[in-house]
Amino acid sequence: MSYNSNNIFAKIIRGELDCNKIYEDDKIIAFNDIAPVAPVHILVIPKLECRNFTDFINLATSEDITYFFNKVSEIANLNSPSGFRIITNNGKDADQTVEHFHIHIIGGSKLKALAC
Ligand code: 5GP
Repeated sequence: MSYNSNNIFAKIIRGELDCNKIYEDDKIIAFNDIAPVAPVHILVIPKLECRNFTDFINLATSEDITYFFNKVSEIANLNSPSGFRIITNNGKDADQTVEHFHIHIIGGSKLKALAC
């Protein structure tokens, strides 16, 4: 399946949909999740058109991948300095609901153990 540019995050990148923005540059954008599961719940997305983590790794350059994950680290440590969890849901078994690759940064309080 190919990338569908009607997804919500593509609209946020194009400025067609509002978000509570934390950071933006020419390659990435980070904003608060609309339905936070913890005091800090930030989504970080590349502007590159990619449906999920697998696509991102296959389509992005090594330089862009490094850049992206360095920014995730920077944003996570700035916003949740005493610890955080980073998650990406990849595909339907993982319940991915928005088909544009995104990393969840979750923190701001003591988190419960991971459950499946
Ligand atoms: P997924 O389930 O695909 O891993 O995560 C999608 C995330 O996007 C969910 O946590 C959901 O709350 C968030 N989300 C869905 N629609 C919007 C929106 O319009 N704005 C923002 N900021 N977050 C959204």
